[in-house]
Amino acid sequence: MVDEEHETSYKQEEAPRYHARDVAVVRAKFEKCVVLLGSATPSLESYHNALTGKYELATLTQRVDNCQMPRIRIVDLRQEKRSDRVGTILSEKLRTAMAERLEKREQTILFLNRRGFSTSLVCSNCGRARDCPNCSVALTFHRSILRLTCHLCGHAAAVPKKCPECGEDALIYSGFGTEKVEATVGHIFPKAVVKRMDADSMTRKEAYRETLRAFRAGKIDILVGTQMIAKGLHFPNVTLVGIINADLALHLPDFRAGERTFQLLTQVAGRAGRGETPGEVLVQSYTPFSPSIQFARHHDFAGYVEQELEFRERCDFPPFKHAVLITVRSAHETRGKFSAETLARRLCEALSEEFTVSDATPAPLEKLHTQFRFHILLRGGAVMRLSRLIREVMDKLPLPEDVTATVDVDPYQLL
Ligand SMILES: [Zn+2]
Ligand SMILES: [Zn+2]
Repeated sequence: MVDEEHETSYKQEEAPRYHARDVAVVRAKFEKCVVLLGSATPSLESYHNALTGKYELATLTQRVDNCQMPRIRIVDLRQEKRSDRVGTILSEKLRTAMAERLEKREQTILFLNRRGFSTSLVCSNCGRARDCPNCSVALTFHRSILRLTCHLCGHAAAVPKKCPECGEDALIYSGFGTEKVEATVGHIFPKAVVKRMDADSMTRKEAYRETLRAFRAGKIDILVGTQMIAKGLHFPNVTLVGIINADLALHLPDFRAGERTFQLLTQVAGRAGRGETPGEVLVQSYTPFSPSIQFARHHDFAGYVEQELEFRERCDFPPFKHAVLITVRSAHETRGKFSAETLARRLCEALSEEFTVSDATPAPLEKLHTQFRFHILLRGGAVMRLSRLIREVMDKLPLPEDVTATVDVDPYQLL
């Protein structure tokens, strides 16, 4: 039994890179036994296997205890008044819905997949952001510890009083994370008990369980959190779920962005109305008409799968073709770039036309842990042969000492 089979955490991101779900399937084949893959939002790979008859599909058409599916409403953030600065965090509709819940002593969950207070510190004079010295991302401001930190490598820095680049006293905070949502909610509803649940607030092991217990006992009115609260938790008194920004995953340069958004919305929405009172979900978005948001809104898994599979097939992405991602890393930008370009050229020469090889390009996340990163993406049907050919090419191409390359078959991390 593989529960929540769509979870990307089943994929091991360090060598040896394997997918635990796929290992379970292979193992069951050896042992001649049945594997049950369970999920409310199956991965496209597994669902495609069911459609093509490789797997057998068993569908549960009713929610546990016959609960009604929650009503999902989309809030178009573009319509919020610009002068209303709170509006971009909590739209008027969401505020009203929360106030109603507080009055009725029902509970609310607010979901935002981003930690911290402000997501960047930008100079309004010269326009430069405080970036991590080791990675190509902006540092996030955490108000509780009054520091800027990098969410990728953990680098921490003091908050400068003036812009280190131009010397002007013109630094402004922009963007927001869960910490700011918590503060904003506390400000608007001063009488409500608000608690935050994310990797920053849940550093102690017991904190997670204690918070959930208090929430279940009704001692918390509003719970603000990240992914951590999206999992299959059951709270009968939660009748409202607010998704603060549904667009966060959509704009990542990743072919699974739509799938992730649909899954996340569906999973988070499933937290609402698990008791007798039907639940309501408010989804805030700047792109309210994007397909994954619309399909999630109508609880239309079949419709979403159909359009997503069509896109994957047209673009030769999994589950139709296998993808292999090679990441070349080096502390020296030019050496990394040169090695990646050489490797891409050799692969092109060695592989027949049934495989496609992309050019070597800087990764979307160009620098991580002081290493510059370059990507080569390969696609094709026969993944075993493709992997073998890649290995042969790489064995024949000695990389400089300070350059490393890793191969990831059917990757889940494309940044
Ligand atoms: Zn400046
Ligand atoms: Zn960093």
